[in-house]
Amino acid sequence: MAARLAGIRWGTAPTAARRVPLVSCRRWAGASSDTVYDVVVSGGGLVGAAMACALGYDIHFCDKKILLLEAGPKKVLGKLPETYSNRVSSISPGSATLLSSFGAWDHICNMRYRAFRRMQVWDACSEALIMFDKDNLDDMGFIVENDVIVHALTKQLEAVSDRVTILYKSKAVSYTWPYPFSVAGSSPWVHITLGDGSILQTKLLIGADGHNSGVRQAAGIQNVSWNYDQSAVVATLHLSEATENNVAWQRFLPSGPIALLPLSDTLSSLVWSTSHEHAAELVSMDEEKFVDAVNSAFWSDANHTDFIDSAGSMLQYAVAFLKPTKISARQLPPSVARVDAKSRVLFPLGLGHAAEYVRPRLALIGDAAHRVHPLAGQGANMGFGDISSLLHHLRTAAFNGKDLGTDYGLCKQMNAPLLGLFPRPSRIFKI
Ligand SMILES: Cc1cc2nc3c(=O)[nH]c(=O)nc-3n(C[C@H](O)[C@H](O)[C@H](O)COP(=O)(O)OP(=O)(O)OC[C@H]3O[C@@H](n4cnc5c(N)ncnc54)[C@H](O)[C@@H]3O)c2cc1C
Repeated sequence: MAARLAGIRWGTAPTAARRVPLVSCRRWAGASSDTVYDVVVSGGGLVGAAMACALGYDIHFCDKKILLLEAGPKKVLGKLPETYSNRVSSISPGSATLLSSFGAWDHICNMRYRAFRRMQVWDACSEALIMFDKDNLDDMGFIVENDVIVHALTKQLEAVSDRVTILYKSKAVSYTWPYPFSVAGSSPWVHITLGDGSILQTKLLIGADGHNSGVRQAAGIQNVSWNYDQSAVVATLHLSEATENNVAWQRFLPSGPIALLPLSDTLSSLVWSTSHEHAAELVSMDEEKFVDAVNSAFWSDANHTDFIDSAGSMLQYAVAFLKPTKISARQLPPSVARVDAKSRVLFPLGLGHAAEYVRPRLALIGDAAHRVHPLAGQGANMGFGDISSLLHHLRTAAFNGKDLGTDYGLCKQMNAPLLGLFPRPSRIFKI
């Protein structure tokens, strides 16, 4: 595949972008137009900011020029707001380890997070249930507000400002790719044009610009995508009474999964995936009715039928007889007393998967590479996994004194998991 790609000038960058002169660049404050960056990360969301941090704190890249571009403004929490944000993520222990490796997890611990030690997932139409826990009750994961993660990353990036340049409110509007072979007078680097017309150059462009990734589109990388016929309603909920609140709950309703994630002894975060119409109804109904709907979704047995119940009991009996195992007792979820005003918001849900994650001088990470349904709480965790994997390859390249953007071993290894999922690239790419 790499050989095939090497034979073409990739991408479908807009014609206007291609006409942009490659060497005459305007100057702008904050970064020098004649600087060639070793790495530019386009997109400073959870994943892009963590990627920039990981590079900034790694000794292997201490002599590299790194730039993070973010279209939005800088986000720092002056004082931790009393009210919890309605945008939270379930962070796996592996992701916490990555965030610890560059000091961001310490900030999170000093601010706010909630560990959970069990996860109960059960069905609304039968007695089917699965409980995840650990014998020694280790933490299974952590619920953290997205704003807290971004704040922690921003603070850590400030501390390495001599190594990582950040341009906020700087939107990349086009990308121009180099020829894969040497052409007299042409630049071998990726050129990035910003909204203010300035142009910068990089040896490796990391696209972390979310599920509508402009980097992915400009490179002409195919993306398998569709919209689920669902939206997720999120909200911050007050429990009827204080509890240990260390269980993540998820119930599969006929219309989609509903999850309750612990925030504190008395608060939990809701993620309810359902039809667009029902989601719109849920965010607009009065608060009391909404709370009733949430409690009923977790507690009601209205979807049970005698047939499914007795078939389920017989199956359970047979399995227990053939293979006796220790079964964790079913627990009852906490009941909800009220919802935080204005915390109800809905997000339309979709799936996306790029046909390639890595090409020479380009890597896609986070939602730019893969967008998943939030039911397993894995979107950001997968993005953090991309960082660990990419970092491993880039470290090896840096250690061996290689150009970070043209280590073709990287392409083969990082794209390898995709090869089983897609038809041979030669058949799907018309380039
Ligand atoms: C309801 C819901 C619940 C979820 N729960 C979880 C969970 O519990 N656990 C979990 O792991 N994941 C969860 N996710 C998924 C998770 O939120 C995403 O996977 C994650 O936020 C993706 O991060 P990202 O940085 O890749 O992309 P984004 O968050 O989309 O960030 C992209 C960034 O790029 C910037 N950008 C875009 N274009 C440009 C440009 N041209 N130039 C410069 N900057 C640009 C944007 O401003 C943005 O800051 C959930 C998602 C939803 C919708």
